[in-house]
Amino acid sequence: MPVEPRLGASVALIVEGSPNRVLWALRTDDAPSLEGFHVTPGGLLDALDGRLPNDGGEHVEARVACLRELFEETGILLAHGADDLDEALEGELRDALLDGDDDAVQRFEAAGLRLRTAELEPIGRWITPEFAHHRYDTRFFVMRLPDAPTPSVDIREVELAEWIDVPSALARFARGELLVTPPLLGLLRGLEDGPLDVAAQRAAYGASAEPAQRWEVVPGIQMLPFRTPTLPPATHTNSYLVGTGEALLVEPATPFADERERMLRWLLEAKQGGIEPVAMFLTHHHVDHVGAARDLYDQLGLPLWAHAETVARLPELTFARVLDHDERVTLAGPTPMTLRFVHTPGHAPGHLCVLDEASGALVAGDMVASIGTILVEPRDGDMTLYLRSLAAMKALRPTVLLPAHGMPIRDADGLLDHYVAHRLAREAKVRDALRDHGGPAQPMDLVPVAYADAPKLVWPLAVLSLEAHLIKLEEDGAAERTAAGWVFV
Ligand SMILES: [Zn+2]
Repeated sequence: MPVEPRLGASVALIVEGSPNRVLWALRTDDAPSLEGFHVTPGGLLDALDGRLPNDGGEHVEARVACLRELFEETGILLAHGADDLDEALEGELRDALLDGDDDAVQRFEAAGLRLRTAELEPIGRWITPEFAHHRYDTRFFVMRLPDAPTPSVDIREVELAEWIDVPSALARFARGELLVTPPLLGLLRGLEDGPLDVAAQRAAYGASAEPAQRWEVVPGIQMLPFRTPTLPPATHTNSYLVGTGEALLVEPATPFADERERMLRWLLEAKQGGIEPVAMFLTHHHVDHVGAARDLYDQLGLPLWAHAETVARLPELTFARVLDHDERVTLAGPTPMTLRFVHTPGHAPGHLCVLDEASGALVAGDMVASIGTILVEPRDGDMTLYLRSLAAMKALRPTVLLPAHGMPIRDADGLLDHYVAHRLAREAKVRDALRDHGGPAQPMDLVPVAYADAPKLVWPLAVLSLEAHLIKLEEDGAAERTAAGWVFV
């Protein structure tokens, strides 16, 4: 079951000029959602939003929430009466709101403040796609200001709030330096030359409550998650459409008819924008990555590409091209894109990642995930190779990781280091458990010790992972498989 979205609201402050400027905030890498994303200030609606004094407007609680969150996160108070406000009192009000104090409403009234909700212009609504752990149904507003008030950041979830001129923001996005949500990207593009066309924004982003189909996570790379039979807690596999003219569909993953329909609509919408898939590509052979391949071949005639080890494991599919490590493909289009395929075995023997050489974004398949963990098991997987492949990915110095499950990951270096450290820590626990066991051990004998920190629910998978660790320990000369079981060396 997908998580029900919670109501949210967000506001973009704009100072029009040449160039236009926007206030944006960077969420910390450990924020509960949209970690590492640049966003416009905002958050969840809360109980105070029905009561804080304001000057009205449609969806008024969302409007109040915008201006309350803006004040909490950046210290910018957009209220009638704010100009005469004593600085110390303003600080107290901000703290009261941050703490969720019930008397914040009375304090606002006593200070003669009224939030300027009527000046907010609605530009759309965006619902976080179903795959996410934290989902929001967010109303977006803009407010045009004559000049730019200075933000002072509250560093709970936001590490930076600043005014950025729109061309600089788009240039940084084009270099793959940052992640932005679809509404913010749409807004930045709408402000690229000239004043904002509010009606056009509304048309592009969410007059409807449907989650946006088009999410360009990196220039030239669109992402859309589809429901698949995958390992919990993940429920979806991300498909990526890479290219600005000719395009490669990475992970034709979903086997479900309704989701395949949605995929076809997505591809059709892309085609109307001049983006047309010329081939499909599988990062590896697992069932939650290949479900739509045959249907899309039948319906669209799209040829299928993969590594030889993947091809060998999917005899029921017809492949048009076998890709090797370090092979490059250039896709024609307004901005031609050169993709480099990188062999990364360890989770699956034929696993290939795809590097967009221009932005440095790495489509990472199942090598990493921002939902759930990556299973490395003895049949398809190999722990020694997996660790080696993580190091090879790090050596590519990716700017962002685009996993098959979960949100894009900005802190690529940090995540890859964390993955390696996590596996080595587990390996040490397995080695200690084997040493302390005394006699020959079966993998299941060691799980209660080496995975004592994991819920029993995952032990059936843990036993596979543990065996993969034992095989690596044997390769390292620290363990040995005997007829009676595994022994410590
Ligand atoms: Zn997999």
